[in-house]
Amino acid sequence: MEKIGKEKRLDEFLISSETRDSPTHGEKHSSLFTWTGHPFTDAGLVALLLLSGKERPDELTEEDINRAIDFASKLYARKEWSSGYIHAMMLPNSGILMANPSMSKKRTPEAVKTNLLALLSEEEDPNAPVCEICGRRHARPKPVYRSDFPLVGTGGVPNYFPSGKDGANICSHCLFLAQMMPLVAYRLSRVLVIHAYPYELMLEFHREAVEDVKKTELASVARDFRRPENFLFEKLIDIGTRLETGKLEGASITLYSFVNNNQGQEIDVIYIPNPVLRFVAFAARVDRKGWNNIVSMGWRRRPREEEVEEFKKRYPNNVYSRLLSGESILPYFIDLQNRKANSSWRLLSFYCSEVLGLDKEALEFIKGVADRIVETIEKLPDNKLSRRVRELERAEKLYQFEGFFIRVEKDRQEFGIPEALMSFDDFARILTSYGEDLNVSWKTVKNLLLFRIYEKLHDRLMKAASEEAGESEEAEEEFKEGEE
Ligand SMILES: [Zn+2]
Repeated sequence: MEKIGKEKRLDEFLISSETRDSPTHGEKHSSLFTWTGHPFTDAGLVALLLLSGKERPDELTEEDINRAIDFASKLYARKEWSSGYIHAMMLPNSGILMANPSMSKKRTPEAVKTNLLALLSEEEDPNAPVCEICGRRHARPKPVYRSDFPLVGTGGVPNYFPSGKDGANICSHCLFLAQMMPLVAYRLSRVLVIHAYPYELMLEFHREAVEDVKKTELASVARDFRRPENFLFEKLIDIGTRLETGKLEGASITLYSFVNNNQGQEIDVIYIPNPVLRFVAFAARVDRKGWNNIVSMGWRRRPREEEVEEFKKRYPNNVYSRLLSGESILPYFIDLQNRKANSSWRLLSFYCSEVLGLDKEALEFIKGVADRIVETIEKLPDNKLSRRVRELERAEKLYQFEGFFIRVEKDRQEFGIPEALMSFDDFARILTSYGEDLNVSWKTVKNLLLFRIYEKLHDRLMKAASEEAGESEEAEEEFKEGEE
């Protein structure tokens, strides 16, 4: 994971986000709203943009904003949204959205709308501190509490807030945007916001939520997914199939999965490393069947075909969690039990170069060694072939791994195959030069070799395995007979 390389440098990032946000004729900060990098206000902005069919904050007109307020107020005045969602999960006792249970009698779409409009026409107090989110306006004179902005604490109870004081200094416009967030957030067991850069990508990830709200007039339940990361990986693949390759260079995604109510305030922040993002987005494109095989091996037990959808929605998957924590998923590319490669070599190579940072030349070198191993051991009779491969499969210690090469070299000499399996330099390289790098240790090489061997010799290996199974059954029977 050390090799990041493709991330945008900070100065580049600042320059390009500046030009992206400002209108083409150079009037900086003229638009009412702007991207801030804060997940909750950016989510609100996404709601305004998606409802108006726009892409950039400076394209939003007053009419767009009014229409979005109308749309939101009608929904928010309903019980399902007010007590069932806003009060229960996001903004407990909200006065602005009138989700406070004591306000239920007075709550109407008009009243909610009046409150939202009031935020946008609120006068700035020049003596108030600058807004901690956008830095463009003065904050409201009184600190904002968690009933109006998620997770900023209330009274003497601070939450996820850097200075640990009660409430946050937030301007009326940022506060307004946070009130739009319920329209685009996904409702799992907690609330999910997928914050992405470039911001256009965030629109892609939340488009489905707005479509759901328009269709059902209820908050999107993310196709009944229970786990935010499973949902994200599924969406990444949907989006990846439509994106041009290279579109995700330098992209970043962070999941905010939170709950903010009177019982508790909690948040999980899940960052998706860029190489992982690019790999998953294009994995299905390169080899969908292979990717599905790999994911299937990540559950505690392999799902039957009709169970796959349910597993995807409900259960934690080791492939996902390893990708997120920067661990290698190479072992999932092979199915040791069925002596089978789970994907095409192309997907494997894509993973090795995108995520493990293994260079193409090293990969080709290992492939070459694997091909010479195949060329040798395929001359062995089935039972010996199977046994030789098992030696590699069972190599847990480096000396066992070395032993495998020595035996193949002997096979090679017996068959009179010209040229050695490897030169001394090759041997040293495979065993030692990758030894220091955790991601490319000899175990990585072992998995790559097995992948190639399975790819080439799967049928014969399975035939040998079934014969062996038959033999041992016979042997057992004989034994039993002998016992009697
Ligand atoms: Zn602000």
